[in-house]
Amino acid sequence: MTEPDASVDVRAAKDGRLVIVSTPIGNLGDLSPRAVSVLSSADLLCCEDTRRTRALLTHAGISGRRLLSVHARNEEARLPEVLGHLAAGKTVAVVSDAGTPGVSDPGARLVAAAAAAGAEVTVVPGPSAVVAALVVSGLPTARFCFEGFLARRGSDRRRRLEAMATEERTSVIYEAPGRLAATLGDLADFCGAQRAVVVARELTKLHEEVWRGTLAEAVAEFAPREVRGEVVVVLAGASPAPPAEAADVVAALRRHVDGGASWRDAASAVAAELGVARRGVYEQALAMRREDEDPLS
Ligand code: SAM
Repeated sequence: MTEPDASVDVRAAKDGRLVIVSTPIGNLGDLSPRAVSVLSSADLLCCEDTRRTRALLTHAGISGRRLLSVHARNEEARLPEVLGHLAAGKTVAVVSDAGTPGVSDPGARLVAAAAAAGAEVTVVPGPSAVVAALVVSGLPTARFCFEGFLARRGSDRRRRLEAMATEERTSVIYEAPGRLAATLGDLADFCGAQRAVVVARELTKLHEEVWRGTLAEAVAEFAPREVRGEVVVVLAGASPAPPAEAADVVAALRRHVDGGASWRDAASAVAAELGVARRGVYEQALAMRREDEDPLS
């Protein structure tokens, strides 16, 4: 394949095609026929780790492909080169080491740049640990949040944990095996020891394990264990907060107004604070204001 012309206008890549290709998360039998077809015919394969992708290609009986390493640290720098290939009308496939590119893996910036350049962007969907863990967990799947990897420490981690404490949707978290126990402990601290959790380990592989219990039980199970392999934590959502009692609304309104807020501002603040409908709080605030202005009415 000829090198892309450096003078090419990368904003006009409309003849090229970028194909996101999902690959197995452990079981090579999960490589789809369409993935094999695209990997066999693409002009260029962008891969996170060329050795891993070569091993996959060898398994699929594909040889003679041109590979370009595109990983977290060089994705931005690779954009002009990849866009140049697209502008030259080439088909470029994107694969990561496992699962779906762009999901806690490189690929998203390539997609955004290719789309902005007018190239066709398409996908060969397939394995991804987030969906595999969610559906095997037995927890509600209708609405869920994907957390990726939590920050290891600091305020970012605390903010995510605080958010999960009240999040009503199922949360899916990627975690390194050596950090599983610490994360389960933090989740128990923030979300309560009785919250249901599922630990999905080594999915699709020989030692697949799907462990279910409460956060307290999970800490007891995994803290003493030397956990190996790849792990996803699926956390049940918080129970919806019970409706705030009318007395709570009255007390909170009074506190805000005594603190100097107008009735209107107090009502907004209280509705947000207690997570209740604004309209009801405004009506309560109006009634209290009338009573303050004319206690005999
Ligand atoms: N792009 C991938 C995907 O679509 O799932 C995820 C890549 S991310 C760098 C790797 C993380 O995915 C692991 O740390 C683990 O949390 C999860 N993971 C990948 N394969 C897994 C498996 N077979 N079983 C459980 N978790 C897995």
